[in-house]
Amino acid sequence: MKNEVLYLARIGELSLKCGNRDDFEQRLVQNAQLFLEGSKAKVRLSAGRMYIRCPEENASAAEFALSHLSGIAGWAKAETTGKELEAIKAAVMKAAEKAAGEGCRTFKIEARRSDKNFPLNSFEIARETGAEVFNSGLMKVDVHNPDLVITVEIREEAFVYGKENEAPRGLPCGTGGRGLLLLSGGIDSPVAGYRMICRGMKVDSIYFHSHPYTSPEARKKVEDLASILATYNLGGHLNIISFTEVQRHIKMHCPEAFTTVILRVCMMKTAVMLAEKIGSQAIITGESLGQVASQTIENINAVNAYSPLPVIRPLIGMDKEEITSTAKKTGSYKISILPYEDCCVIFSPKHPVLKATREEVTSIMDKMDIEPLLEKALTEREHLRISRFGEILSGK
Ligand code: ATP
Ligand code: MG
Repeated sequence: MKNEVLYLARIGELSLKCGNRDDFEQRLVQNAQLFLEGSKAKVRLSAGRMYIRCPEENASAAEFALSHLSGIAGWAKAETTGKELEAIKAAVMKAAEKAAGEGCRTFKIEARRSDKNFPLNSFEIARETGAEVFNSGLMKVDVHNPDLVITVEIREEAFVYGKENEAPRGLPCGTGGRGLLLLSGGIDSPVAGYRMICRGMKVDSIYFHSHPYTSPEARKKVEDLASILATYNLGGHLNIISFTEVQRHIKMHCPEAFTTVILRVCMMKTAVMLAEKIGSQAIITGESLGQVASQTIENINAVNAYSPLPVIRPLIGMDKEEITSTAKKTGSYKISILPYEDCCVIFSPKHPVLKATREEVTSIMDKMDIEPLLEKALTEREHLRISRFGEILSGK
């Protein structure tokens, strides 16, 4: 095909799986095909590599897919040539010229030969093609810390590629069950959701607002964050719940210092009810131990008691800088730092309890008779469906 491009993706951890590896690989291919539906792209998996071949006009769709598919460790646009050394050298030179133009000064060649009939072994391929680049004066060799690695793979054809692009890594989305993410407008929860998607989980979200105390901008922020998550999750669902009445009730009936913990309990109970309705097998939160006053192990323990489902906290041991760096990579950071506040901040007590016990929390919950309000809030929820490209498709 004229003007055809080829992408080669490395599958990471997936390649280490033995027993159910076929299922995982099949899911990865299916996920890639979903992204490329309606295009002329062809997806194929062979010997630890995924290949996407498509006409030039589908290149940006293929690149979007490759940057959003968990299960892929890295990808590159590759040149294919016949298995003649001269043709391979020419492709290597082309990759070197492009990278030198982008400022690379040092390089190394990594060669792999799965076709053992090819007359040169890996070392010889690297030596021959590397000499070509070195002699051209374009770049110097640095085998330890090069600016550019040029990869040559001799398979059914020869493949040559330069700079590899980052991908989400982990396992293909859809291979790890379903989870329900408590998504707020902060930095942490979108990263927690992203981490679980990269472990193969299909993640839906639930957001609690307190309109009119919280602004439409705060809600829009969460919709935008859910859209970003949906691009890794092959689409998704955002459930929006009004907690205004719940928060007013808590303010009236709960000792002030406990309002944050009790609000968390109410969120947990409502999330569990929704999870059971929609078939989620776990609750996911963005808590990180000690990050804010409400996130002590005692408070986490007190809230945990209200979930019969596993509560997954992927960020519990992570440092804020690590979390922020992931948020920047996914694009959620610039949305999360917008100033609009979610419902917790507005009703926050001056001196929240740092070490609530289960007994204290149970005794407050028993007196409050808040369950009917939680059920009502759940019944009246709004539901947004989001496409794998991040577009909001429908409400209700
Ligand atoms: P984040 O940055 O994710 O908002 P945070 O550091 O601000 O987290 P908290 O406000 O204590 O921490 O919230 C802890 C977790 O509780 C959040 O990561 C999120 O999973 C959940 N959560 C908090 N507020 C809401 C909300 N309004 N709707 C849904 N989940 C929420
Ligand atoms: Mg928050």
